[in-house]
Amino acid sequence: MIEQVGIIGAGTMGNGIAQVCAAAGLGVTMVDISDAAVARGLATVGTSLDRLVKKEKISAAEKEATLARIVATTDKAKLAPCDLVIEAATENEDLKVKILKDICATLNPRGLIATNTSSISITKLAAATDRADRFIGMHFFNPVPVMALLELIRGLQTSDDTVAKAEAFAKRIGKVSITARNSPGFAVNRILCPMINEAIFALQEGIATAEEIDAGMKLGCNHPIGPLALADLIGLDTMLSVMEVFYKGFNDPKYRPAPLLKEMVDAGHLGRKTGRGFYSYGTS
Ligand code: NAD
Repeated sequence: MIEQVGIIGAGTMGNGIAQVCAAAGLGVTMVDISDAAVARGLATVGTSLDRLVKKEKISAAEKEATLARIVATTDKAKLAPCDLVIEAATENEDLKVKILKDICATLNPRGLIATNTSSISITKLAAATDRADRFIGMHFFNPVPVMALLELIRGLQTSDDTVAKAEAFAKRIGKVSITARNSPGFAVNRILCPMINEAIFALQEGIATAEEIDAGMKLGCNHPIGPLALADLIGLDTMLSVMEVFYKGFNDPKYRPAPLLKEMVDAGHLGRKTGRGFYSYGTS
């Protein structure tokens, strides 16, 4: 049974994962590299819980009880007793390998290890640990407290027992899980990102305007947001790097990034974060 969860990284994903685990009654140890990052992560959880209190989804006492279950620290040694450690640090392969080796040196031998990577091979990261059979991908979606899905990814070495424990964990924290095999983009981004890329091709070819493409997918396919507006939200630089990973990973031209996507990134039009992408957001 997983009762005590360690989380590496108190950023966007790490603090969201900490919140949902603590809200489900699990003990949480959230680790980051600086006191400032730890404090920021904890403050974000506090603000997010405040919003839930305001909306009367939880009581003030539940908020305090959730916060009391989170230990936020820069001391990795505190991860030793955890049943599961989820790595949610910056997306960089060398950094993740180093962090995983550190976790193996600290964590008790029974402990499971998971990574929230969105693009690095689970099989490759598993091979960097001393417990490849007890290593799994746990791909959470942003914002973690809101999104219902937890995509589990089995590496070549992941055992059935580890998958079963990860599925039980997903249920315990109120998420619905699907399980995918290790492959570039896993299941969800493998489908989502080429669809967005195709929408950019359609725009580039003048098949329809951005507004028409987005309205078409919203009204004709019941998508809650159009693909071009979603690309602006994700960031066009992130979209381009995902398509490049697919293109290289599969050696298949069907994944080539749309030339317009590359040009937008060259222009610095990265979407909402720069105030301009396929739409303008009023800042530049
Ligand atoms: P982020 O930049 O918001 O947070 C990363 C945190 O990791 C930072 O606080 C940083 O200080 C910390 N960190 C860096 N090195 C560390 C170390 N050695 N030890 C402990 N902490 C360290 O990034 P994020 O958006 O939270 O992404 C984290 C992971 O989640 C990445 O692998 C990313 O690909 C994945 N992911 C992100 C999203 C998303 O929408 N943001 C969605 C799914 C998966």
